[in-house]
Amino acid sequence: MKVFVDPDICMGCGVCETIAPLVFELGEDGIAKVLVDIVPVELEADVRQAVEECPEEAISIK
Ligand code: SF4
Repeated sequence: MKVFVDPDICMGCGVCETIAPLVFELGEDGIAKVLVDIVPVELEADVRQAVEECPEEAISIK
């Protein structure tokens, strides 16, 4: 699984970082960054939860 944050949509609420801090981190610009190239299998459920809970629907997975 790969995961992406659309920086034009993210409003920096930090929900994704709270759910999956090993995958998402708020950058100094206040926009969430993805820390991993490929999401480790054991973190995929957390990433799916972050996709569902992102209030801006800024996170997508492939
Ligand atoms: Fe941005 Fe969505 Fe993460 Fe909030 S949950 S910081 S809007 S990507």
